[in-house]
Amino acid sequence: MTDITTKDLIAMFVGIAAAIEAEKGRLSELDGIIGDADHGVTMSIGFSAVNEALSRLDQGSADPATVLSTSAKAFLNAVGATSGPLYATAFIRAAAAIKGRPVLDRDAVVDMVSAMAKGIRDRGKADCGDKTMIDAWVPAAEAAEAARLAGRDLSECLDAALFAAQAGAETTKSMVASKGRASRLGERAIGHMDPGAASAVVILSAIARSLGRRS
Ligand code: ADP
Ligand code: MG
Repeated sequence: MTDITTKDLIAMFVGIAAAIEAEKGRLSELDGIIGDADHGVTMSIGFSAVNEALSRLDQGSADPATVLSTSAKAFLNAVGATSGPLYATAFIRAAAAIKGRPVLDRDAVVDMVSAMAKGIRDRGKADCGDKTMIDAWVPAAEAAEAARLAGRDLSECLDAALFAAQAGAETTKSMVASKGRASRLGERAIGHMDPGAASAVVILSAIARSLGRRS
């Protein structure tokens, strides 16, 4: 079993930024249908700022929790949209979940994913069924925890999280939104995937590719 290091977490954020960049147009298009068309752009600005901040970290002395708390600050400062404080809280909680660990094993990475989901939920006060990123993050965290309980390795836990997020994002198509801008649309939001759920899939896919490969 390979331990996830500070360097691996920084590489994970590089991977997330690249994946968001590749999907930026699609995410903003989705937001254009049920929101204000900026989601791809805001996520791209956020993860670029994260990578800019991480590039200034001393990889030799920073621990994994510092990578996450640095990312939280950078994301919050860069993103004025709703997703800014939501992901900043996710990263702060993730940092708290792995605080003091010099390297991360499977259990710590699953704890990190669960802490992110819980942080977004606590901050945004959305539940499953509200047509938000929570419809992807909560099932993802539950699936990762279930895979861990079943004795799966890190790569399998992260794949389980990704598949659950994909399925969860699909379910948002049939929902009416009760949180965020899309809630103003009522039934007109039906038939369209929530952009925040779509970007959660992009993020979890990049995490699975980046950290899963290391296990
Ligand atoms: P804004 O709506 O301010 O333009 P973004 O476009 O960056 O922000 O993000 C929109 C996404 O934020 C939505 O698609 C939804 O997934 C998510 N969202 C909105 N409100 C909440 C909330 N209360 N809890 C969780 N996620 C939310
Ligand atoms: Mg928007």
